Amino acid sequence: MRARLARRLQDVPPTIFTTMSALALRTGSVNLGQGFPDRDGPPGLLAAAEEALRSGRNQYAPGPGVPELREAVARHQARRYGIELDPDRQVLVTAGATEAIAAAVLALVDPGDEVVVTEPYYDSYVATIAMAGGVRRPVPLRRTDTGFRLDVEALRAAVTDRTAVVLLNTPHNPTGAVLTEEELRAVAEVAVRHDVVVVVDEVYEHLLYDGREHVPLATLPGMADRTVSISSAGKTFSVTGWKVGWVTGSPELVEVVMAAKQWLTFTNAAPLQPAVAHALDHEMAHVEELARRLQERRDLLCAGLRELGLDPVVPEGTYFTLSDVGHLGWKDSVAFCEALPERAGVVAIPAQVFYDDPDESGGTHLVRWAFCKERSTVEEALERLGKADLTA
Ligand code: PMP
Ligand code: GLN
Repeated sequence: MRARLARRLQDVPPTIFTTMSALALRTGSVNLGQGFPDRDGPPGLLAAAEEALRSGRNQYAPGPGVPELREAVARHQARRYGIELDPDRQVLVTAGATEAIAAAVLALVDPGDEVVVTEPYYDSYVATIAMAGGVRRPVPLRRTDTGFRLDVEALRAAVTDRTAVVLLNTPHNPTGAVLTEEELRAVAEVAVRHDVVVVVDEVYEHLLYDGREHVPLATLPGMADRTVSISSAGKTFSVTGWKVGWVTGSPELVEVVMAAKQWLTFTNAAPLQPAVAHALDHEMAHVEELARRLQERRDLLCAGLRELGLDPVVPEGTYFTLSDVGHLGWKDSVAFCEALPERAGVVAIPAQVFYDDPDESGGTHLVRWAFCKERSTVEEALERLGKADLTA
């Protein structure tokens, strides 16, 4: 029998992360592609998971998540940002941020509704909007003298009465931009004016550099009741394989997201949830140290790429830097990244795939490099790049 993919998924390509990590394995390349650390999270977190596994926490977690994790998320939001949440009605545990995004979009978007999304985007957004039958309206972050900045005029033009959701990400993958208060204020004003919900992906909320502080969109005027905030343990505690995430927001919005979430995974990772609760309460010093180490790796990678003429943008947060390889003569970043394992034994991500129209938005020659790796891994990659001919 011929397997026909449903029409709504036919234009969605396979995820670039699987493709590029398989390529790295096949070619023995240093993997600066997919964003995962090569060092485990805090030992206390791992011990808490082990304890939960051995003490009978292995059956279904409650639908909204285990109470101690919901309470720990609420405590974290209050302590860190002054956001007061009822853990029973305003916190929902999900299978990573990925499920949280999918549940939010599926719950809030009807077929034909428009979703305004920052571009370049994280690739699961595209698939999720397609599954909901939504129509994507990208708003670019553009390269400027002060890193990548949100095109606020484009945002104002894109949000209309047809918009169901604005889907935002800060700190932003792949540009490394941390939206400024001014940019966040512009988002809030537009959202209030058009009475739309903003879904904000904040998975890198703790990975900011040079003394920057994360400002949750939900704390801006008029936003507490119209923001679905999403985060995850994967990046904060270096356990990307755990897939424990959470949604916070008003009781009404969380209930709406739950309506979809309960039919996706129902629940997940029962013994990992209490461990993440432990980490949110007790392992934040480790996270500060992680951010410090990441900043050092960022500087190492950016200095190395600059020396090679690869023109990196110094990211304000996240795991990633973008560099433009246009001057090396490649047709686009896919051609460059496909040749890179053979030329240099290194894998990177062609960021042009995170654009609807990369030519229009300046994304055609952008390559994403991950620095969430041990110093020796970054050094090895730079050494290999230094020996290679990188011209087309
Ligand atoms: N959003 C962004 C911006 C990401 O970079 C990632 C990758 N971790 C995710 C969501 C997915 O998070 P999780 O692994 O918790 O599903
Ligand atoms: N968030 C990670 C990245 O951007 C990868 C997640 C994934 O592989 N889906 O590299």
